[in-house]
Parts: sequence; structure tokens; C-alpha cells
Amino acid sequence: TPERIPKIGPDDELSDLSRILNRMIDRLQDLIGAQQQFVSDVSHELRTPVAVVKGHMEMLNRWGKDDPEVLADSIQSTLSEVKRMETLINEMLNLTRAEQVPVENVNQITDVDGVVHRTFNDFKMLHPDFILTFDDDLVQPALVNIRQDHLEQIIIILADNAIKYSTDRKEIHFALSKSATRVEIGVQDFGEGIESEDLARVFNRFYRVDRARSREKGGNGLGLSIAERLVKAYGGEITVESALGSGSIFTIRLPLVSEPTSDENSPL
Ligand code: ADP
Repeated sequence: TPERIPKIGPDDELSDLSRILNRMIDRLQDLIGAQQQFVSDVSHELRTPVAVVKGHMEMLNRWGKDDPEVLADSIQSTLSEVKRMETLINEMLNLTRAEQVPVENVNQITDVDGVVHRTFNDFKMLHPDFILTFDDDLVQPALVNIRQDHLEQIIIILADNAIKYSTDRKEIHFALSKSATRVEIGVQDFGEGIESEDLARVFNRFYRVDRARSREKGGNGLGLSIAERLVKAYGGEITVESALGSGSIFTIRLPLVSEPTSDENSPL
């Protein structure tokens, strides 16, 4: 524990100051703790792919020159592990950037309907083995102050997960509705679902209910934490309802722009 600022008489103005300073110290300590945790999480995540690459390089070194099968196999496995690390690093950068979105400087008004429909159509094309439905309750466009690529990214994360964690029933349902102040976007699947004790943790960085299964599907436990940070950066919220064995609904709510402005088509 660091040295605290000494307490001064309770009625003294300095006592207020010391309380404020102590609160600042506590907050700084939390921040430092979070940074240390992040470094430790990242190191942990990189350890497995690095070990795999090392193993293959050793094999290559020992037998690769004489055995073309070992050679081909090691190169293939090394390449796929390196690609995994590349994705991980890109996603970590995404996560860091998501925390730094200066909402007040975002002057892009995005038509949510258009973005969700486009993503829906893309997924329909990419996953012809799935039944995709879309329940659109909007009468007028829903305009939100958010960068379009960020909104796309959030919906893609949810839809990707819905596909990844579907089981026999290959069905994904999109829903779009709005209230006076907010727009609500839902992505529902009928797949494996999430146990209640894991629900609160799925938004944590690197958290996976089943590590091996997520890894096998190319996951790294960062998608939902990126989605949550982005949604929060724009003043919204993300929630999940789920039942083990019957599927999940992820819902995001974002504040609507109160009055449509002339920035509507700003290219920023
Ligand atoms: P991942 O890359 O592992 O998919 P995410 O951060 O996107 O990482 O999700 C974290 C974990 O939450 C997943 O590993 C999975 O266990 C669980 N999860 C996310 N979406 C769903 C879903 N639609 N159905 C069931 N489980 C899910």
C-alpha cells in the first residue's frame, strides 16, 4: 500500500483536500491493477500459440529436412497458429480503441435500419445452411450518433456468435424496434445457450464458457468484450438472456438522436 496523505483536523478545508487526494490514489491504484491484469491476461493468451509454434519449429528442425510430410505439416500448423496470433493482436487493438471512442467528437449519424439489414443480408448469403429471419418494427428510420463501422462491428460479433454456438437448430432471428428514446437490436439463436452462472462473465475479456470449443471455432474470448465496450462508449447497453440448451438473445440498446440534423449523410 502506498503512503496515504495524512489526515488533518475534521473541520479543516485541508481535510477535504486529503479525502479527494486519497480517492484519487485509490482510483489510480485500480487503474494500475487493471493494467497489470491486462498484461497478465495477454501473456497467458499468447503462451499457447507460441508453445505450439515452438514445438513445430523443433520438429521441423529435427526431421523436416528429410521428411516432406513433417515439413508440410509443420509449416501448415505454424501458419495457422501465427494467423491466430495475428487475429488476437488485431482484436486486442480493437479493444483498446473501443475504450477510446470520444463520443462527443463522433459526428456521424447512422441509420440503424440500413446497417442491420445489410449485415443480415450478408449473413444470409454467407450461411445458406441457416434460416435467418428479421422482425423489423420500425416505421421511421432510427438515427443514432455512432460510427457506422462500429455499429456493423457490434452486430457482426453477435451474429457470428449466434452462428458459432448454434447446434441442431440452425436458425437466427434478428429484431429491430424503437421506443421514444432508444433503438433496440436483438440477435437470437436457438443453440447451446449459456448457464446462468456464466452469463455475467461472457462480457469479460478472454472469458469463454468452453475454452476448447471456442478455440476450435476460432474464438478468443474478446468479441463480446469489444461489443460491450463499443456499445457503452456510445451511451448504450448490451444485455443477454439465455437458457442452457435452448439458445440466447443478445440485445443492444442505443440512444436515438433526438432531432434528425443536416449531418445525416456526413461522410466522416
Ligand atoms: P469467443 O471468441 O469465444 O466467441 P466472445 O467474447 O464473443 O468470445 O464470447 C465469449 C463466450 O461467451 C464464448 O466463448 C461462449 O462461451 C459464450 N457465448 C457468446 N455468444 C454465445 C451464444 N450466442 N450462445 C452461446 N454461448 C455464447
